Amino acid sequence: MVLSKTSSESDISVHSTFASRYVRSSLPRFKLPENSSPKEATYQNINDELMLDGNPRLNLASFVTTWMEPECDKLMTDSMNKNYVDMEEYPVTTDFQNRCVNMIAHLFNAPLGETETAVGVGTVGSSEAIMLAGLAFKRKWQNKRRAEGKPVDKPNIVTGANVQVCWKKFARYFEVQLKEVKLTDGYYVMDPVKAVEMVDENTICVAAILGSTLNGEFEDVKLINDLLVEKNKWDTAIHVDAASGGFIAPFIYPEIEWDFRLPLVKSINVSGHKYGLVYAGIGWNIWRSKEDLPDELIFHINYLGADQPTFTLNFSKGSSQVIGQYYQFIRHGFEGYRNIMMNCRDNAMVLKEGLEMTGKFNIVSKDIGVPLVAFSLKDNSRHDEFEVSEMLRRFNWIVPAYTMPKDAEHVTVLRIVVRDDFTRTLAERLVDDIKTVLKLLDNLPSKFQELSLESKRNREE
Ligand SMILES: *Cc1c(COP(=O)(O)O)cnc(C)c1O
Repeated sequence: MVLSKTSSESDISVHSTFASRYVRSSLPRFKLPENSSPKEATYQNINDELMLDGNPRLNLASFVTTWMEPECDKLMTDSMNKNYVDMEEYPVTTDFQNRCVNMIAHLFNAPLGETETAVGVGTVGSSEAIMLAGLAFKRKWQNKRRAEGKPVDKPNIVTGANVQVCWKKFARYFEVQLKEVKLTDGYYVMDPVKAVEMVDENTICVAAILGSTLNGEFEDVKLINDLLVEKNKWDTAIHVDAASGGFIAPFIYPEIEWDFRLPLVKSINVSGHKYGLVYAGIGWNIWRSKEDLPDELIFHINYLGADQPTFTLNFSKGSSQVIGQYYQFIRHGFEGYRNIMMNCRDNAMVLKEGLEMTGKFNIVSKDIGVPLVAFSLKDNSRHDEFEVSEMLRRFNWIVPAYTMPKDAEHVTVLRIVVRDDFTRTLAERLVDDIKTVLKLLDNLPSKFQELSLESKRNREE
């Protein structure tokens, strides 16, 4: 039998992918390929290119979960073909989401009876949750103003200049002004006194952050609440952006009052995919009560005789994340979450102490807050934080460096987020690697010297 050239070359069920023509041309980038490819070669090519991405477990820039138990992975992969929006077809999945909403609302001390259902929604992340929360505040404010015969064209939100970018998106997409409280040197969260001074009749809410993205610090929601109660001519309410802190404070800082225990806190968002311990793609928004979510924003779907209210920006989405969240709640319970968060905090402390011992860094994160360490070089005249970050990549660590927002932009920090899958052994190795990096940098000419050497060479040429 004579095999034609093409069949012998393309039959990769006989030949290895690496003996086939599929490794001799690069993958298309612009146009859909004309022909199909065998699945083995497609897998190999895509898998191999993906090897060049960083290792998510070593990505210490991110708050987002990078490890879950194999049993949960299985539940999640098994449900990848379930569209969450088909609530009539998948009533159990819908029920899981509702149970999660109840559990989170109770965790945040919503004023609910033991078996009363809470008001809240599962979202793609805190960003979508914040859009929905913002829309509810805006509509409530508009309804009130219209009833009083007052203009509704200039709504604003008072917040710190340290807000996460999703608030800026909300402001631009939904035409609400952000009145930002300026940061100052050494104080990187919203000042409650200045915030309350900025509140006016057009303020739809004050947005406080439990766990600032920049340095993990908790804003003083209680003080904001108390100052607002004193001032409150306009019944201004508070939203708490607890994207990362919402699954930390209830477990290890139960004495901090930041949630629905404070009367002016009307809604709270939290990212299920951060310290909620689920892979990327889930967040939650919880409202204090029905009165805080204007009914005209809710679309009602009837399924199996029950009323299923929906309030989301998108329609279709996967179900896996909801199932993963329910798994984590059942699996860990309060005790498990508490142990995990204490481990994160302890490992963050070891990291912080290790960095302090080098004598080279200022720590700008707080001991109470999100378990992360944000730090800057005491002396960055020869080498700066960006070089430390770059050099750490050689040791496989991904540690970002960034400048603080306006009014503190001369401060550059490195930030290491401690997640549940970051062990003591890794923390200690990281400290050792940072020490090595400092030594290596010491032996290199500074950026400034490099530049002057280069210009000298150029002149000589
Ligand atoms: C991460 C974060 C967000 C955005 O959350 P996603 O879940 O990634 O959409 C908003 N606010 C704060 C404070 C955050 O840390």
